[in-house]
Amino acid sequence: MYNKKQKIAILGSTGSIGVQSLEIIKQKPSLFSAHLLTCNKNYMLLYRQALDFNPKYIVINCEEGYRFLSKNLNKEKTIVLLGEDSLCKLIEELDCDLVLTAVVGRAGLLPTIAAIKSGKKIALANKETLVIAGELIMSLAKEYNAPIIPVDSEHSAILQCLVGEKNKNISKLILTASGGPFLNCSKSDFKNIRVEDALKHPNWSMGNKITIDSATLMNKGFELIEAYWLFGVHEKKIDIVIHPQSIIHSLVEFIDGSIKAQLGLPSMTIPILYALSYPDRINYPIEDFDLAKIQSLTFLNPDKTRFPHLRLAYECLAKGGTYACSLNAANEIAVDAFLNKQISFLGMIRVVEKSLEKSIFVQNPKIEDYLCVDFETRKIATQLIYKK
Ligand code: NAD
Ligand code: MG
Repeated sequence: MYNKKQKIAILGSTGSIGVQSLEIIKQKPSLFSAHLLTCNKNYMLLYRQALDFNPKYIVINCEEGYRFLSKNLNKEKTIVLLGEDSLCKLIEELDCDLVLTAVVGRAGLLPTIAAIKSGKKIALANKETLVIAGELIMSLAKEYNAPIIPVDSEHSAILQCLVGEKNKNISKLILTASGGPFLNCSKSDFKNIRVEDALKHPNWSMGNKITIDSATLMNKGFELIEAYWLFGVHEKKIDIVIHPQSIIHSLVEFIDGSIKAQLGLPSMTIPILYALSYPDRINYPIEDFDLAKIQSLTFLNPDKTRFPHLRLAYECLAKGGTYACSLNAANEIAVDAFLNKQISFLGMIRVVEKSLEKSIFVQNPKIEDYLCVDFETRKIATQLIYKK
């Protein structure tokens, strides 16, 4: 393993992935320390984390939280900063070994770019960054020699299947999907879905936004785009299969017909551990895996008619440019409106489809174009929802 303790920056430490990552740091104090922790508004949790982990820096996104933390934390131990600009400047100069991006949505984009531009190793949970600007991110990662290691369980599975393999020998990536809570719901019942129903994921406990994305299968669409950029495999060679037990986390088929899969209980601790230790592994206590208890593993094809978000993701990849950036922006606004009970479950797809039709499109975008398209699409989606 590492010969010196690894200083970890966790962007979004108060979220589901952030908290699970800190638990690993707590269990392995000889291997890891928390160097920078950040969050949006939950300053009481960030405060407790600062007391527990003594990070050198914390960054918060709200002024009230900033005032509270500046007043109550010992400056000699922890420096408190406010907002995205301060965070990006800090990341560029930060002396740390790995940046774990566990922020949700577009908020992950600029800090991730700052981390890449300073050549840091990235453990990427924030898949939206690759959905918005995959082409730019992968070319910057190459230019600045910044490795990107996926935290998403499917992509971690694929990475593990690819160890020791040559990319030219891949014939297909197969992403598994649980199917979410409405796998067996008929199209006519979709209009009755309530927020509480959509927040009940059968296998995973996650933040609200990704839980809704899992219910619409937008999450799987995003993971398709994420896999396309991470592994450089054409979208026609990436299949999606529904696997309700979430035991096989994904598979790779090779040109000789051999298929490798990675299995495990549905726990994000395992892919987070792998991202922190890659290419090595860490000895860590995990609940016993008993195949006899699991008994059966089942598979079926996804239904793109009931789950049109998935179809849109394939279309985005085929069209390229800023199309996926618009898809993400419209989806963020739609999910937020659904969570706030402003639109229905089916209303989300209507908003996303209409926003995509109306949004501007740039074929060969630079960072300014991504930001502009993101901003404009959010405006369009917001108007569709609130100013009918
Ligand atoms: P979450 O909602 O539980 O946590 C999000 C974190 O981001 C919080 O710490 C929050 O304070 C921070 N944040 C939110 N908006 C912000 C902003 N504007 N500026 C700065 N910080 C902000 O989300 P999560 O479930 O932990 O997911 C985080 C990311 O990981 C998402 O991109 C998600 O798709 C991905 N992911 C999550 C899981 C999972 O099991 N939760 C699995 C795979 C991938
Ligand atoms: Mg996933």
